[in-house]
Parts: sequence; C-alpha cells; structure tokens
Amino acid sequence: MNLNEMLHAEYGKEMKECSNEEIYVVLLNEVNRLASQNNIKAGKKKLYYISAEFLIGKLLSNNLINLGLYDEVKKQLAENGRELSEIEEIENEPSLGNGGLGRLAACFLDSAATLGLNADGVGLNYHFGLFRQVFRNNAQTTVPDTWMSEKSWLNKTERVYPVKFRGMDVTARMYDINVTGYDGVTNKLHLFDVEGVDESIVTNGIDFDKTEIEKNLTLFLYPDDSDEDGRLLRIYQQYFMVSAGAQLILDECSERGSNLHDLYDYAVIQINDTHPTMVIPELIRLLTERGIEIDEAIGIVSKTCAYTNHTILAEALEKWKIEQLNKVVPQLMPIIEILDNKVRRKFDDPSVYIIDKDERVHMAHIDIHYGFSVNGVAWLHTEILKNEELNHFYKLYPEKFNNKTNGVTFRRWLMHCNPELAGWITELIGAGWKKDAGELQKLLSYREDKKVLEKLLAIKQNKKLKLKEYLLEKQGIELNENSIFDIQIKRLHEYKRQQLNALYVIAKYLEIKSGKKPKTPITVIFGAKAAPAYTIAQDIIHLILCLQELVDKDEEVKKYLKVVMVENYNVTFAEKLIPACDISEQISLASKEASGTGNMKFMLNGAVTLGTEDGANVEIHRFVGDENIYIFGDDSSTVVERYKKESYNAKKYYNENKTIKQAVDFIVGETLMKLGDKSRLERLFKELTEKDWFMTFPDFDSYVAAREQAYADYEDRMAWAEKMLVNIAKAGYFSSDRTIAEYNKDIWKL
Ligand SMILES: *Cc1c(COP(=O)(O)O)cnc(C)c1O
Repeated sequence: MNLNEMLHAEYGKEMKECSNEEIYVVLLNEVNRLASQNNIKAGKKKLYYISAEFLIGKLLSNNLINLGLYDEVKKQLAENGRELSEIEEIENEPSLGNGGLGRLAACFLDSAATLGLNADGVGLNYHFGLFRQVFRNNAQTTVPDTWMSEKSWLNKTERVYPVKFRGMDVTARMYDINVTGYDGVTNKLHLFDVEGVDESIVTNGIDFDKTEIEKNLTLFLYPDDSDEDGRLLRIYQQYFMVSAGAQLILDECSERGSNLHDLYDYAVIQINDTHPTMVIPELIRLLTERGIEIDEAIGIVSKTCAYTNHTILAEALEKWKIEQLNKVVPQLMPIIEILDNKVRRKFDDPSVYIIDKDERVHMAHIDIHYGFSVNGVAWLHTEILKNEELNHFYKLYPEKFNNKTNGVTFRRWLMHCNPELAGWITELIGAGWKKDAGELQKLLSYREDKKVLEKLLAIKQNKKLKLKEYLLEKQGIELNENSIFDIQIKRLHEYKRQQLNALYVIAKYLEIKSGKKPKTPITVIFGAKAAPAYTIAQDIIHLILCLQELVDKDEEVKKYLKVVMVENYNVTFAEKLIPACDISEQISLASKEASGTGNMKFMLNGAVTLGTEDGANVEIHRFVGDENIYIFGDDSSTVVERYKKESYNAKKYYNENKTIKQAVDFIVGETLMKLGDKSRLERLFKELTEKDWFMTFPDFDSYVAAREQAYADYEDRMAWAEKMLVNIAKAGYFSSDRTIAEYNKDIWKL
C-alpha cells in the first residue's frame, strides 16, 4: 500500500497537506476494498451469530492489524510527520452494545474470521446506539450518540426483506460491515435497518415518541423499557431483527443448495442471550409457509439453533406477556402455543412450561426446549445453571448443557491497545503467541529475570503516562503517574458492587483525615454507564462523582488519594485504561457475574486482580495461583445459601461494624450533603442499610484486608512485577480464539 500515491490520486496533494479526515477516508476505502477480497470460505455449513448487540469499537487499527498492514501504514504516516493515533481520533465508535455481552459478540466475530470459519453476525443498525453519557452537577445525563457519518464501515446492500407486524408492514434493509480475521478470512456483520427511520423525532436528550414504530424502530439500542411503550418497542426490535435474519438464512441456505428439510446441514444459529429467541418460532413459521409440515419444521429448527445463557439474575431473564406479543407479532402466538403444548404433553412440571399461569412467555424456556445446545459462559456459571437456576431443565436434557468460558481477542486487547507490551513479548518469546495464545506461558521462564521484570514495569509506567495525557486532554483531569492505578470499569449495576469500592474510598478518606497516610498515593478510577431508569445505579454514580469533588477540593487528602470517574466509558476508553492499570477490581457478589471479560483484558495487560470467587475470576485464580491474585469475600455457595434462607440482615452488620457504620453514615453526613443531592444520597443510604441486596457488608472487612495487602505488596516492585508477568503468561486460555475453537468443536461443527 502506498498511502502517498493514494492521497495524490484522491486529492491531488501531498500527505503533509491532507487533513486527518482526508487520510482517514482514504485508509477506510482502501481497507474496505482489501477486506472484501479476502472472503474465500470452504464448507457448506455456516454459522449465524445472532445478537441484539455488537460492541465492535473503532475498526481502522483493528482491520489494519488483521490485514497485516498496521506497521507499514504507521511507518508511512510517521515518515510524513503524521500519527496513526490522530487519524484514529476521526473515527466514531459505534455504540451498538451495552457492555460485556455486546463486546463478547464482537470478539467472537474477530476470532471466527481468524480461525477461517464461515461465520456471519446478524444484528440491528441502531442509529444512535446506546446513549452518550455526560456528567452535569455530579450526575449522569444522556444524549444521542451519533456515530454514523457519510463515510463509515457500513456498506449498504441490495438485500431487503418485508417484516410484518400487526397492522403494519415495514421493510428491512441489510447493511454490512466487513469483519476481518487476523491472517484469516473476511466475514460479514449484517445489520438490519428499517427503511424510513426518522432521526428528527428525537428531542430533549434521548426522548422520542415510542409509538411511531416506523420512524423509531432502529433509532436506539434498548430504549428505556420502564414503561409499556418501551417494552413493546423492544419486542418490535427483536422481531424485526429475527424475521429479517431468518429470511436471510433461508435464502442463503437455499442458494447454497439446501432443500430446507436439511437446513441444519447448512446453518447453525447461535442465539446470544434470549433477545433473539423469536428466531425459533419465526423460522418454524417461515418453513411452514414454504410448505413444510409443522412437526417437521419444529424438528428442523431444533437441530439448527443453539442458545447461550448470560445471566442468572431472574430480572434479566426475559418474559413477554401473551397480550404484548399479540399486540406486536400475533402471527407467532399460535406457534408458541404449539411449542408450549408439546412441552405440557411431555412433562408435568409447570416450572419448565413455556407459558406460565400468569400468561407470560418465558423466552429462555423456548431456547432450551427447542435448541440443541445450552451453554453458560464460565465454569462456575455453567455449574450454577446446571445445579440451581436451570436444574429442572438440566434433569430433562443433561446432554444439551455445556460450558464455554468466555474469551477476548488478543488483537484488540493486546496488540492494538498495548503495542509496547505486545512487541516486547514477541522479542522475548517470538511471534507464535499471536496465533497460539498458549505460547504466552513461555514467559514464565523469565520470572526471576530482573531485566525483564524492570522492562515490564517500565512499559506499565509508560502506559500510565499515556493515560494521564489522554485524560488531561479529554476531561481536564490530572493523574499522578506515580500513584497506584486501581480501576473498576464496567456497566453500573448493584451486583457488580461499585458501591463496595465507593465505601472503601470513604473509609480510606477518613483514615487519611485521621492521619494515617498510604505509602504510595492511590488513584481510584471508575467508568460506568447506568440504565436511565435504574435509579439506584444513578445514585451510585452520583456518590462517586461527589467523592471525586470532595477529594479534589481537599488539599490535605488529595496528595494521597484521587477519585476519578471517566465520562462515557466505552471500548475506546477501555483501550486506554486497561494497559495503564495496576489493580483490576472484579468485586461482584459471588454467583452473580456470569463470567466477565474485563477481568481477562486486565490480566493480559499485566494488572493484578482484586476479586471475588465469581465468574471467570475462579478460573483466573486457578491459573495464576494464590500468590498472584487477591481473592476475598464469601464464595458462591455461601451466598446462594444465604439467599435461600433469607437470613441476611444488613442493619445488623451496619450496627455491629464500626468502619462500615462510619463509611455509610458519611454518605448522608454534613460534608457530602454540601456537594450532593439530598434525596439521592438519602435513598442510597436507605438502600444500603435496609436492604443491601447484593451483600456488600458481609464482604467489607475481607475486601479492605485484601486491598490493603495488594497495596502493601505493590511496594516491592520486583515481586509485584513477577505477579504481573505470571498474569500475562497465564492469560492464553482467555483468548477468544480458544473459546471459538471450542464452540466449533462441540456445537457448530463447521
Ligand atoms: C470488556 C468490556 C465490558 C465488559 O466488562 P466487564 O467487566 O466484564 O463487565 C464492558 N464495556 C466495555 C466497553 C468493554 O470493553
């Protein structure tokens, strides 16, 4: 690739005279062209990964790496005094996902293309994605996140499909994004959009008329579902996605030679959480329309669909009322009733029925009865599904249940976000790890090599400095690069327990005030968006922002402690924060975090985990050993028992533990009330002292002890660097290449 020649041909001028935008557009077009040439795929069976979310992040660098052009382009730019990082700034990040679930789907597409699998994604083209988060008066506000621009990775296709709703027909148009693999093939991410969407109906932040379906269907990801119109809109979105997707799948399989009776030889559909579940009845409906008897159609679809469960939180398992489905997609109800009747004839346990006594349709139950595989996303999660949450189903279909521990793509989460570390690893052990992540274990032979450990610390220091520059420019926040960077970045949810971290911060603040100062200053960084309708989550953000202001204004404390909440945490921010992290906070209540993937990204970049025995932390612990992780808190069986017995009493802990009482009282004390909103802080205080549903108090003391131990150990820089090295060396298992290879071997069989 000769960038100078291309710019000349396009604009008739030298690179030096081109704007960053102009260079970006030329690179985008060329990368798109090259990616399209790369789609040689063998085999008749194809995977369709269907998901309401694909949190893909910026694509320019990722595609350059995957196509093997990154170093060359970087060099050509540098020779002309230009920086790739500045060109990257031009690209908008599409926020087509909430968090981990959407990011996982993006990592999976990358790995599937890398492994050369014939595997496309199917999803929705949300015009504003999730909202953009803006802080005002120490609180979250939301505005639309415009990411589409005239020049983007989105390619309009000629494929259109009719989608029928009650009393309304709309047209779905398919847009494609090229998915490049690392030295692999190019697959597609198919995003359906409604023709006729009207961005102008959005007013006043992210408000819009939720009843104008033809205009709003693909405006936002998961609009506020706290009211009835919002819930109905979600059903519209889900059906729109699966109906267009199902038509695409049947057409493509027919084109490849399927007579539809043998659909499962041509397609396998991975259903990412319950959001795309309606693809099952919709495919059955379409097959019967094309002349196949209903019983046969049900059999065919059951051999084609596989389901991934992502949560055991009861409130997150989707149930739609019959009445709601009838309002939106009446054509599916007769099929869902047939599916339910078959279940009732076979089993007499009401807990496995699809339609319950309250006339609600349990989406996960459709997936389990009428899919051939059910997988959890980490060892512990799958065990809890089998033995607790889905135990009744496990007894019926033990052969369907399997575990696929999540992973992340090392291209984005090491090679791209930390080229310094990636390059140095390659110097030490060769480049084999890029294709076989297990080779990272070779690093273990350097455990006692002082030079290697020093270099590891130097790279970390450099990434901390880079984060400092970035935050100063983005948010005007000044970090102390010589402090410990202790980071918790993930969606805001009570089960993830940012409130526990905040309580620690308060306790630390009070301790410093009383004269006990930390050896090395501490910087506590948070990043999190909260669902607009999730009141307590908003209150927790408010508390953290108040603490940030409090400490900033305290001349005495600010030398030792800093609290930072980054605004609009997203993939781009994650790529800056993770390489700079010393301590990775993974402190969910045991049994509640299905897997987590942030934990894996941090480990890969040499952060040491401070966490509970939850999700994939359990596996990280097993790999690195007690010496190289800080584990605290009750384990999942203790927690599960405590819930069963309904024995938890937050007030008791509050009254009996002085440190807890002091920290919690501080939330509604005079100092914070001066900075914050009285009703928000009081509501949070009440929530913690009267409910504390996610049990922060029982874990508080052991959390403080583990965190203090980590800070103390940090002082021995060589011993700490060894922990970092072991974490990197043991991260290979958490490559999504391994995860995808397992999906293919056990489920897809492409
Ligand atoms: C990886 C990632 C997540 C998931 O983080 P968890 O800590 O596993 O919840 C969420 N958001 C973004 C932007 C990510 O990159």
